[in-house]
Amino acid sequence: MNGKAGSGTGAGFSGKVVLVTGAASGIGRAAAIRFAEEGARVFCADLNLAGAEAVVAEIGGMAAAVPVDVADSASNRAMVQTVIDAAGRLDVAFLNAGYYGQADGLATVDEDLFDRLVAINLKGVFNGIKAVEPVIAQGGAVVVTASAAGVIGHPGNPAYCAAKHGAVGLVKSCVDAFAARGARINAICPGGVETPLVGAPDVAMVPVGDLPRVPLRGFGQAQHIAEVALWLASPAAGFVNGQAQVVDGGLLSTFAPVT
Ligand code: NAD
Repeated sequence: MNGKAGSGTGAGFSGKVVLVTGAASGIGRAAAIRFAEEGARVFCADLNLAGAEAVVAEIGGMAAAVPVDVADSASNRAMVQTVIDAAGRLDVAFLNAGYYGQADGLATVDEDLFDRLVAINLKGVFNGIKAVEPVIAQGGAVVVTASAAGVIGHPGNPAYCAAKHGAVGLVKSCVDAFAARGARINAICPGGVETPLVGAPDVAMVPVGDLPRVPLRGFGQAQHIAEVALWLASPAAGFVNGQAQVVDGGLLSTFAPVT
């Protein structure tokens, strides 16, 4: 997978128009490259426009960068309008942008950080859903990146955890609205993934003491999450709807308090 459009293993998204938020880095970057490899015309949206442009350059072909601040509803509408103006349709929206911040327990999360975490990780998903719902194509799919912290508690960052739980709730609550348009919506709930969001592995969201207890050992890679996003967005997952798919190497299945 060298990131050039059309160089993937198939053309599963040939002719499809895919929007990825948070595409400048980590999971979003990996997914944008994979959708392009599968033949999609990919719009890479991010607050970091230069970063999104770099990913577009990596992809080549018909990919394009779009500025967005997912926390701002008008910015989300403008992003989607840019896609429609350029491509005339939207088949897949991977609403993936997120923010973790610097947090190490309840005492370290002040009101400003709470507001920012909710604005990006919860309201950002709401804004994205609201912007894409009116235009999503028949047979289309929305995939939201929530978190394993969207299905269990996360003492290290309670506000992030609450926002990600909210994102899962939004996904489940919007199934009917998208079904009315012949489209699906699902969430991915990654465990610890080695991306800039979590910094170096020794300052990760998954406490380092827990890493040996991930059955598949240590961190996942952005590529692991990207592959699940592609599958959820594909016709192969055509009857998968309203789900919060945990992708964590098995950590939650075996999680037990440290004694
Ligand atoms: P990352 O930091 O590598 O990428 C996040 C991207 O989102 C960046 O390019 C950033 O510029 C963009 N972004 C941040 N705020 C934005 C905003 N307001 N508007 C538009 N773009 C914005 O992180 P990642 O690990 O690839 O994270 C992707 C998603 O996965 C996030 O939703 C994150 O919460 C989630 N997640 C990550 C992990 C992990 O361990 N890395 C675990 C669970 C969930």
